[in-house]
Amino acid sequence: MEQTPAGTVLTAPDDAVPHEAAVLVAGQRLASDFQPVVNPARLSEVIGRVALGTAEHVDQAVAAAAAAFPAWSQLSPHERAARLGDAAAAITAAAGPLAELLTREQGKVLWESRVDVGGAAHILGYYTGLADRLAEDEVFRSDARGTIWSGRRPMGVTGVIVPWNSPVYLAFLGIAPALLAGNTVVVKPSELAPLTLSAVLRVLADALPEGVVGVVPGGGEAGAAIAAHHGIRKVFFTGSTATGQQVMRAAAGNLKNISLELGGNDPAIVLESAVVDDRLVDELVQSVFTASGQICFNVKRIYVHRSHHDEFVERYTAAVDRLVVGDGLDPRSTMGPVNNRPQFERVKGLLERTRAAGATVTTLGRRLDPDTWDDGYFLQPTVVTDVEPGAELVTCEQFGPVVPVLPFDTDDEAVALANDSEFGLAASVWSQDREHALRVARRLECGSVFLNVHRIGASDVSMPFGGFKGSGIGRGHGITALEACTELQTIADHV
Ligand code: NAD
Repeated sequence: MEQTPAGTVLTAPDDAVPHEAAVLVAGQRLASDFQPVVNPARLSEVIGRVALGTAEHVDQAVAAAAAAFPAWSQLSPHERAARLGDAAAAITAAAGPLAELLTREQGKVLWESRVDVGGAAHILGYYTGLADRLAEDEVFRSDARGTIWSGRRPMGVTGVIVPWNSPVYLAFLGIAPALLAGNTVVVKPSELAPLTLSAVLRVLADALPEGVVGVVPGGGEAGAAIAAHHGIRKVFFTGSTATGQQVMRAAAGNLKNISLELGGNDPAIVLESAVVDDRLVDELVQSVFTASGQICFNVKRIYVHRSHHDEFVERYTAAVDRLVVGDGLDPRSTMGPVNNRPQFERVKGLLERTRAAGATVTTLGRRLDPDTWDDGYFLQPTVVTDVEPGAELVTCEQFGPVVPVLPFDTDDEAVALANDSEFGLAASVWSQDREHALRVARRLECGSVFLNVHRIGASDVSMPFGGFKGSGIGRGHGITALEACTELQTIADHV
């Protein structure tokens, strides 16, 4: 471990370390302590190292971002959009090998990593197209008494705190609107999947004026310092509900504006008017097991009308059994390992307690490499039946490759079961009858409802996305996210 004092500038990465997530401030790589990053599919393989960012690093990054703010915010939105468009092109040019790196540090299979890494340029592209929205103040009223305008102004230095499950995509959902609006950013990648995001952020920082983008990787210390920092005006936080609550408390210190994208326990409701066919079954396999269940809006519980329940369970378990679990870089794998040891132990413990409580726990899927299975955080896909609606496995956010299936008899019962949750991120309703599905959808307490689908790709970057209840505050994506990193200013001219 390096013991150089924080603040010392290192000029080049250590040649012995192939991938590094360093503290990056005003184009300089700062000294820090590091910890290794291991491949969750091969625990014996160290693939890089991550800086353990400190509160002092956050101070330095905020100072640089504050110094860069006046010039960046004075550019017109179209000038900023042009710079961000150039950055998106540079990221696309560098993106080739990055999806592989993401699979090696995060665990997800390669197509899932491509979606994640591709998100950076895609989201930047979407937001650069919204520059017109910021370009002119809106005339709110104009008459003999004078004119009143209202316009959107940047807030200042914006903190973006990122989880490990979809690190690149989720980071840019905060970074892109914040930068287009004229803010400068300090980004904190998670210590559990920092390498790919840090590589993308280096390209972004190089393409923009010095100090506009700072990076402080690390764990809770750096995150907490961002949440509490009085030089930061806005925080985009994506992560667990428990940490989101800590961010909210810390942000109160200077009344920071916050956007919180938090946990979920998404229900899928298969109505009596649904047809249990291959498409429905296959979609629900994807909806649950993509990224080994580690996406905030994966389906985490399935409610099936009693008339379909037994047929559904039979067809669903057969389909889940076709999943192949292995290293995400192996093209034969359809599901990778989970990302980290706490998550691995948590899901195993949950399943043990569920089995001990009398539920039927069916372990499915094929182990691609049984000989190296124990060298990774591999879990087999699991379907749980005969489980009580109030069981821990049903009410918590499992965040692993496991799903309970429960029967219901009436729409009212399905709605009550779905809404009986501290979370309210997303849900899906499955039916051949659109009006029936819509009636149920509108009664669900959650930020997004999908009809006959529930997965990556169904959600569009223009579509407001976020949670009711414990799933968050505010909405990411779309124009709402752009507005969420601006202050609305009114100018009244009384002649
Ligand atoms: P986490 O809350 O443990 O960590 C998220 C980030 O916060 C990390 O960068 C972490 O280092 C940092 N952090 C830790 N302590 C902090 C503190 N005191 N103050 C500020 N930052 C701190 O979450 P995770 O385990 O990385 O991610 C999984 C969770 O994220 C799940 O609950 C998942 O549902 C949620 N998530 C939500 C969305 C969404 O859009 N709603 C998207 C992805 C993930």
